[in-house]
Amino acid sequence: MATYTFECNDCGEELHLDKNVVSKNGKKIPLERDNRPHDCPDREEEPWTSETFNCKDCNAEIYVTDLHVSKNGKRVPLNVANNEPHRCVNRRSNFACKSCRTQIYVDDKRLSKNGKRIPLEADNGYPHQCSKSERFG
Ligand SMILES: [Zn+2]
Ligand SMILES: [Zn+2]
Ligand SMILES: [Zn+2]
Repeated sequence: MATYTFECNDCGEELHLDKNVVSKNGKKIPLERDNRPHDCPDREEEPWTSETFNCKDCNAEIYVTDLHVSKNGKRVPLNVANNEPHRCVNRRSNFACKSCRTQIYVDDKRLSKNGKRIPLEADNGYPHQCSKSERFG
């Protein structure tokens, strides 16, 4: 199968992506010909800044730059509008219900009476009434 290759903007090295090699945030990592992650030798001169892209949760225009990394080394998404860190209103991460595998998520603002976060269904945002778990509720 042909691999799509492109040149590194900084050093011109021929790179490619592999859908199986992604960073923690789900982005494909540029790889060199020997499939090692590209650690660009020319990238240090100027802090790298990404193209503008849309937050997949709230559609706001954001970007990332090497100037803004969190303590754990992750790039912090910044608002294009004001260059402030993007605090996404819609950000959530889905996970599968352990019992029935339905995609669910939790929302810090949706708490049950005892202060626990309520599992919500990813599809519609309604509380997940698990058909397979008896412990729920
Ligand atoms: Zn490079
Ligand atoms: Zn957002
Ligand atoms: Zn369930």
